[in-house]
Amino acid sequence: MSPARVYLDNNATTAVAPEVLSEMLPFFKEKYGNPSSAYSFGGNLQKDLERARELTAALFSCHPTEIVFTSCGTESDNFAIRGLVDAYPEKTHVILTKVEHPAVKNQAAYLRKKGLRVTEIGVSRKGNLDLEELRAAIDNDTLLVSCMMANNETGVIFPLEEICRIAKDRGVFVHTDAVQAVGKIPLDMTRLPVDLAAFSGHKFHAPKGVGGLYVRRGLKIRPFLIGGHQERSRRGGTENLASIVGMGKAAELAASRLGEEATRVRALRDRLERGILKSIGNTEVNGDPEHRVPNTTNIGIHFIEGEALLLALDKQGICASTGSACASGSLQPSHVLRAMGVPFTCIHGSLRFSLSTYTTEAEVDYVLEALPGIVSRLRELSPFRSLQEIEAFGA
Ligand code: PLP
Repeated sequence: MSPARVYLDNNATTAVAPEVLSEMLPFFKEKYGNPSSAYSFGGNLQKDLERARELTAALFSCHPTEIVFTSCGTESDNFAIRGLVDAYPEKTHVILTKVEHPAVKNQAAYLRKKGLRVTEIGVSRKGNLDLEELRAAIDNDTLLVSCMMANNETGVIFPLEEICRIAKDRGVFVHTDAVQAVGKIPLDMTRLPVDLAAFSGHKFHAPKGVGGLYVRRGLKIRPFLIGGHQERSRRGGTENLASIVGMGKAAELAASRLGEEATRVRALRDRLERGILKSIGNTEVNGDPEHRVPNTTNIGIHFIEGEALLLALDKQGICASTGSACASGSLQPSHVLRAMGVPFTCIHGSLRFSLSTYTTEAEVDYVLEALPGIVSRLRELSPFRSLQEIEAFGA
């Protein structure tokens, strides 16, 4: 029997965990007060807010006061970069990688328009950062290096310890977009000297509309949302308490799933990947197979159009993606795969599958059954079925 839906797009968003939802419900009913109110009906909720902060901080092995709650990963990335740039106006140079999410990339583009110098560091064919290029890019004006912890499209993990060593030697701050790492790999801020780390609840089974920024104790940073005194005056706005409490629970669940459960998800991902590579010719993995988060695979399927593939998969109830959810709808090939130099014969036909704790073996097998037929039907419609044919055409 085929499942109604196989959801393998967990890097786009995840299902809210049932345990998370039940923690949240009282905050829509009897506990609807404002934690900033003077009377106990509101003020007592500070305890729930701080408990959620403790649970979230535990996932990062950091102090609770180092966690600032925000509305999403995008806000956290914007806050990190703009907050630091505003705090150090004398520094005029920012470094990022070519494969950052638009939350970082477009914030940097905004700063460039405002007159800052922005350098983008390239990656190898496997998606690994060029550390020599990074070293050479730092100069006396450099304020910040922003490098994601794990790439949303390929899952490739970046060597942040090494990046921190390079940056800190030169007195440069490090921000990491940890949105795709949280809940997938262990995080320990006592060992990783990054100054800022962005995260987003809906990527680890909390609801959409809540996220946070880790801010190393003592770091000078200007608020991004200017308003009330909430979050120790680092982020104005009444706290989204129900979602923050939900994210605290999700953090607790994520911490408990980093061991055996991550191994199970990795084995399922590998089964899916191996099965596809074996049953479909002209396929390859995009991204370094040795340095990836356990839930993600990005597979280049040559001589095929990704959008057509997604539609055909959708008809069979399978949710996957060709790039980041934010880039879908654009016909431009992914900036991540372009930066990696993925050949044009498969850059449009690259498919990302991202699994979660709710993914089952039966679901993986269902995809393995469905995909070869879909690919061969689409390839029959394709004008080119081999590199030789393309070369003969003179493309
Ligand atoms: N950074 C990365 C690496 C992401 O994958 C995403 C979302 O896909 C974001 C930032 C943005 O997070 P949010 O959707 O919570 O704004």
